[in-house]
Amino acid sequence: MSHPPIYLSPPHLSGAEFETVNEALRSNWVAPVGPMVNQFEAGLAEILKCHYVVATSSGTSAIHLALLSLGVGHGDEVVCATFTFCASANPIVYCGARPVFVDSERDTWNMDPELLHAAIEDRIRKTGKKPKAIIVVHLYGMPAKIDALVKIATQFDIPIVEDAAEALGSRYDDRALGTFAEVGILSFNGNKIITTSGGGAVCTSQINVASRVRYLRDDAKQPVPHYEHTEIGYNYRFSNILAALGCAQLRVLAERVARRREIFNYYRQALSNQLEFLTEPPKAFSNRWLTVALHAPGNIEGLRLELAKHKIESRQAWKPMHLQPVFADAPYYGNGVSDALFQTGICLPSGTALTNSDLERIVTIIRQYVYENSK
Ligand SMILES: *Cc1c(COP(=O)(O)O)cnc(C)c1O
Repeated sequence: MSHPPIYLSPPHLSGAEFETVNEALRSNWVAPVGPMVNQFEAGLAEILKCHYVVATSSGTSAIHLALLSLGVGHGDEVVCATFTFCASANPIVYCGARPVFVDSERDTWNMDPELLHAAIEDRIRKTGKKPKAIIVVHLYGMPAKIDALVKIATQFDIPIVEDAAEALGSRYDDRALGTFAEVGILSFNGNKIITTSGGGAVCTSQINVASRVRYLRDDAKQPVPHYEHTEIGYNYRFSNILAALGCAQLRVLAERVARRREIFNYYRQALSNQLEFLTEPPKAFSNRWLTVALHAPGNIEGLRLELAKHKIESRQAWKPMHLQPVFADAPYYGNGVSDALFQTGICLPSGTALTNSDLERIVTIIRQYVYENSK
């Protein structure tokens, strides 16, 4: 019997998108402004319990705007988690600044607070200047130890950007990720827990950050009747048509989080003898955006190929930024944790449209592969 391909994390429409997108088209708001954008921003603000949300063209542009709003520029250093997708770090370079990478801790896979502390002190010693900002990532939806990280950042008076691109619906101490520090960002790319096909958002409780982000997003227009510019701005606006998708997707966010968590629990229960899974530390509630499992080093690619034979997509965990050729010159404060996660971590199909019989089939293939390779 031939099964259709299974992807890692495909979009999952609710059905309501037809109605909201139609409404946007009927109203002729086919523009990067419009009522759906306002509705989407307001809906997000309510879910996050955050004062200001500014929708952007992508998560990457949201990070770029967040850094600019904090004054990051030429000659600055910005500390960033090394275990992440490149989009967390690329905007540092767009600003003309230099990334400094910090490794992960074992129990969240996110930025290690002790290493962060050591890195800041060492940068001050070496450069005579403290880093301009810190980018904390909540990877795969798992909350970083944000209270400890905020405490250190506060001690040095350095602002934090929370990259919650993968973590909409996740909470720490019952508070939404992205709302713990100066500024947070989200992504609505096609692979994320809800999607607008492409898009992002900046969230903040500081009105000066929000208005700076909005101003830079909209080409840095001065508030006068003609077009007057005193600074270089960007066109990072979000389309009203895509916001219509977002408005429909927001309604099913809670369901999507519940299903991702079910999928994670299914894998964990079925494969606890074969693979290792990350449990939630105290106070952490993960949306389990992707289920990531750890397997013996050297076997990850074999497992990926075995699943691919059955048209099932899986992927090795993110390759840390300090191992990327493009960031070879960046300072790095390490402990080997992210290297090990890269060598042993595999992301399993986690899309919310997966059925339990899909999961059963995937689990059977993995069990068989692990058994064959342990003989
Ligand atoms: C997806 C992602 C981004 C970037 O979002 P885009 O909308 O794709 O630009 C940033 N950081 C992390 C950790 C991501 O997974």
